[in-house]
Amino acid sequence: MILYGKSGLKKRLDGIAKKGRLPHAILFSGRSGVGKKILARYTAELFLCENGACGECSVCRNIENGVHPDVIFVKRQCGDKYNAESFREVLSGTVIRPNNGAVKVYVFEDCDTMRPEHQNALLKLIEEPADYLRFVFTCENTSVIPETVLSRVTEFEVPDIPIKDCEQALLDSGVDKKQARELSEMFAGNIGKCKAVLDGGDEALLIESAERAASALGRRDGFGLCAALSERTDRAEYSRVMEYLSLMIRDALALKYGGEAEFFGKAESKKIAENFTEDELMNLLDAAFESAKNEIYNLNLALASTYFVSRANI
Ligand SMILES: [Zn+2]
Repeated sequence: MILYGKSGLKKRLDGIAKKGRLPHAILFSGRSGVGKKILARYTAELFLCENGACGECSVCRNIENGVHPDVIFVKRQCGDKYNAESFREVLSGTVIRPNNGAVKVYVFEDCDTMRPEHQNALLKLIEEPADYLRFVFTCENTSVIPETVLSRVTEFEVPDIPIKDCEQALLDSGVDKKQARELSEMFAGNIGKCKAVLDGGDEALLIESAERAASALGRRDGFGLCAALSERTDRAEYSRVMEYLSLMIRDALALKYGGEAEFFGKAESKKIAENFTEDELMNLLDAAFESAKNEIYNLNLALASTYFVSRANI
């Protein structure tokens, strides 16, 4: 298993595993999309493979394919989200000894999305675990996890992936050179987001909304801009659209100063650069940042986009 951009962390884990000192409960924390889940799988291999997560034996292959009977992904077994009944059912399996290996590894992904009652059930488990139980947790935000749980796990912070490693990961997965570079730069090495765009998921739709907004902005078309911004009814999604729009405005500024457009929507950025002065662009950028903070100010979205359009002065 190749852990792109994580050689330091991998070395640490390998070293601890070699000494036989892997903690029984490990937490990987880090931003969404940095590869925490793949690290959880790698750690399961360290727990179960006799050759130090070789990646080649049947144990490692089964873990990588998600079919090892002693590696249980709790969230997946509960459906897409943790739900009480399945959670209880999965946990009741902890009294059964491992099938093949010496230990049984429970992987709890996105622990910050767990409800408090689930976290409490979890606490009981990790407080007095059977000797054959191991736990791997992943989360983005440790502040919502109770101190009682945190104090019983060993946390490893997962660093962001350098852009060049992200690009290599995309190339290795068959993405062409130009797209691999563009995506890695656009998302500053966040491989999860790059993949979300490649899969045509929500992120791709948000970028399309931002491109429509940028196109209207380039035409100085206030109604069009308002319409494009109104496509989003979720605050977090609206903020993402604003972030993408500000990347295109940044590109327009770069073009003004003789630089090049780096992000998506290059045609839109060019049009914006043609139709706005440098001062106006600085003002737009500022307005986009403010509007993206709708959650902080508790603005409704119609107000947030009206604010942006009025600041755009078109
Ligand atoms: Zn192996």
